[in-house]
Amino acid sequence: MITVVTGNKGKAAEVAAFFDGIVEVTHTPFEAVEPQAENIADIAREKARQAYEALGVPLIVDDTGLFIEALAGFPGPYAAYVQDTIGNEGILRAMSSIENRRAYFATAVAYADEEGITVFEGRVDGEITQSPRGTDGFGYDPVFSVGEKTLAEMTLSEKNQVSHRARALEEFRKWYVSNR
Ligand code: IMP
Repeated sequence: MITVVTGNKGKAAEVAAFFDGIVEVTHTPFEAVEPQAENIADIAREKARQAYEALGVPLIVDDTGLFIEALAGFPGPYAAYVQDTIGNEGILRAMSSIENRRAYFATAVAYADEEGITVFEGRVDGEITQSPRGTDGFGYDPVFSVGEKTLAEMTLSEKNQVSHRARALEEFRKWYVSNR
C-alpha cells in the first residue's frame, strides 16, 4: 500500500489510475510547507520528508513545474503561485504576441519509506495554446497541448500515456518492483 500525499484531487486520480491493478494506493491531503527551492526534485524531497515525519507510512508526493521557453522558463517551480494568481488567462496574455509556444512540464515524484527518500523525474514537451481547450484535467491542462490535443482534451488514460507525471511514476514503478 502506498499513500499519495496531495491536496490536489486531479493528481490523486492520475496516480490511482496509473497504479490500478499494480499496487494499492490511498490518498491523504497532508499539506507540507512548500520550500522556496529552485529545483522541483529538491522541493519534492523536502515535502516527502515532512510528510513521512508526520505520517510514518510509505508515501509519494510530487512537485510539478511548467517551463515556457520564450519566457526563460517562467513560471518554472513557481507554477502553483502563478496558477493561483494570474492563472491560465494571464499565461495566455503574457504569450499573446509570442510565436515560440514551446514549453514543458516536469514532475519530480519523491517516494519515502523507512529506508529513506528516492526521487524520480518525468518530462513532457508540448506547446502553450492560443486559447484554452478541453474540460478534463486541472491546472494548466487546457492551455498545454501535446500533438493535436490539450491535456484537458485527453481522457485520464490518454493523459497517463504521455504526461510528465506518468513518466516519473513509470520510473518509480520500475525501481519499486526491483527494490521493494
Ligand atoms: P504543484 O506540484 O502542486 O506545486 O503544482 C504546480 C502547479 O502546476 C499547480 O498550480 C498545479 O495545478 C499545476 N499542475 C501540476 N500538475 C499539472 C498537470 O498535470 N497539468 C496541469 N497543471 C498541473
